[in-house]
Amino acid sequence: MGSYPFKEIEHKWQKRWEELGLFKTPEVPKKKMYILEMFAYPSGDIHMGHFRNYTIGDVVARYYLMNNYDILHPFGWDAFGLPAEEAAIKRNIDPKTWTLNNINISRATLKRVGISYDWDREVITCNPDYYKWTQWIFLKLYEKGLAYQAEAAVNWCPSCKTVLANEQVEAGICWRCKSPVTKRTLTQWFFKITAYAERLLNDLDKLSEWPENVKIMQRNWIGKSQGAEFDFLIEDSNKKFTVFTTRPDTIFGVTFVAIAPEHPLATELARGTPYEKKVTDYVHQAQLKTEIDRTSEVTEKDGVFTGRYALNLISGERVQLWVADYVLPSYGTGIVMGVPAHDERDFQFAKKYQIPIKVVINPPGESLDATMMESAYVDHGIMLNSGQFDGLPSEEGGKKVVEYAIGKGIGRFQVNYRLRDWLISRQRYWGAPIPMIHCDDCGVVPVPETELPVLLPEEEKVDFIPKGRSPLEDVESFRRVKCPRCGKMASRDPDTMDTFVCSSWYHLRYVDPHNSKEPFSKEQAKLWLPIDLYIGGIEHATGHLLYFRFITKVLYDSGWLPVDEPAIRLFNHGMVLDENGEVMSKSKGNVVSPV
Ligand SMILES: [Zn+2]
Ligand SMILES: [Zn+2]
Repeated sequence: MGSYPFKEIEHKWQKRWEELGLFKTPEVPKKKMYILEMFAYPSGDIHMGHFRNYTIGDVVARYYLMNNYDILHPFGWDAFGLPAEEAAIKRNIDPKTWTLNNINISRATLKRVGISYDWDREVITCNPDYYKWTQWIFLKLYEKGLAYQAEAAVNWCPSCKTVLANEQVEAGICWRCKSPVTKRTLTQWFFKITAYAERLLNDLDKLSEWPENVKIMQRNWIGKSQGAEFDFLIEDSNKKFTVFTTRPDTIFGVTFVAIAPEHPLATELARGTPYEKKVTDYVHQAQLKTEIDRTSEVTEKDGVFTGRYALNLISGERVQLWVADYVLPSYGTGIVMGVPAHDERDFQFAKKYQIPIKVVINPPGESLDATMMESAYVDHGIMLNSGQFDGLPSEEGGKKVVEYAIGKGIGRFQVNYRLRDWLISRQRYWGAPIPMIHCDDCGVVPVPETELPVLLPEEEKVDFIPKGRSPLEDVESFRRVKCPRCGKMASRDPDTMDTFVCSSWYHLRYVDPHNSKEPFSKEQAKLWLPIDLYIGGIEHATGHLLYFRFITKVLYDSGWLPVDEPAIRLFNHGMVLDENGEVMSKSKGNVVSPV
């Protein structure tokens, strides 16, 4: 059997498809089918690893085409962001030239392979005609109170020299460069995704054609827990603070309270006392540690006593106030109650620092002796040493305790989410500028919609090597601008947006990619949405796949979209491995080209 003459046959048919306009999207679909593969980071040429994704989409699109469906099957480039910028810096090229060059090479490869894309609908997120609308989305969120600036302890990658969203930190490691991430207190922009936590969680039930494992990952990431909040009163002060707990039944067993080092109270409590230096030293140390070190099961927990006490308003008992770095500022209120007898971590901590251990739950039919315990008793049981609640089964008793606290105005039922607001500002050059202006008189003022896009200044004016603050801060011609409200000189926000903001709405741009008046028309959105089949890697389960659901819901609520979920069906594939079983990736240099 002779070999198959790829070149001749491929060329002949590709030419024919092109002449027929076979993959052009019909203007008005009768039986629509929107098939989408996650678009690509143009950090190099397309390789075989990408083709798994694209071939699946190609086969499905052709199948439906032959079955008389009207197909929307577009492609585009996730062109802003760290991957492209890092690759460009490494080669001493500016990010724009590098990115657009890669796009040209990769597009040519995709065309040669003959994937059935409608290239007329290509989107490139680093082009002003696209990021104008990314900025518009920022303004929409700002109008709705869903974009805000706040000082917070944020994830900092010392190697990428930028902040990262929680979703970009996997087990304490930077998603991009794999360096351990530390914490820094900085003023940053956030999207209030937590306002949608409940809907993002509940609507997972609607997604019957999404893989179960992705839904489980999102559920865990959102991390809803039912519990209670209790107020404590700081001794020698009229200040109160609040703790969140999932075990209100153990409130009488609290013997200490642990405060996250990033919490303002941590340094405030010891100020002007002999404990001050020890506490501030500890706080500085903690911020250099990674989240893994702080929360790992194997490392010994440590902390520092503030010299201060608080009153447990339920039990009336005096408890020690500690600062401990195993408490993360992102959990609950950033302050947790320590119940050594009934929580293993608290037990180890109490043993180490000789903090009292008070038993308030006995196993059914048994009686615990705090002095004999070698580990915490964490199960439910019968309450004791708990005043009027003695003798109650602890599950029932926990509810009674909260009801009692509600009556006294010192506690309440509370739902807690693990999900945090989405940190979207980056101290990097290669991204969509944040469309906000800082005026001495007016404060933070949004750029008027008519003045979008806020253009990223040309490379020759910018030293884009990361320094730990935004490179745009030093570009006078970019920064200095008249305040849209009062007309005085003011300055633009120097940060750029997380690349995951760009990709949170690209599926919407494809329905109307050349619209210069709107991000997309509502009519086109009605014709094509939602995506019928979305294909991509599982690594996006708690990042992009959560963000694009969130932005879809926000735009649905503002009347822009006919659907509140972006994709009916999701298909996750694995990764293509090389001969040694390593994931194929440009940065590892083990890629194979398809052509
Ligand atoms: Zn990094
Ligand atoms: Zn002003």
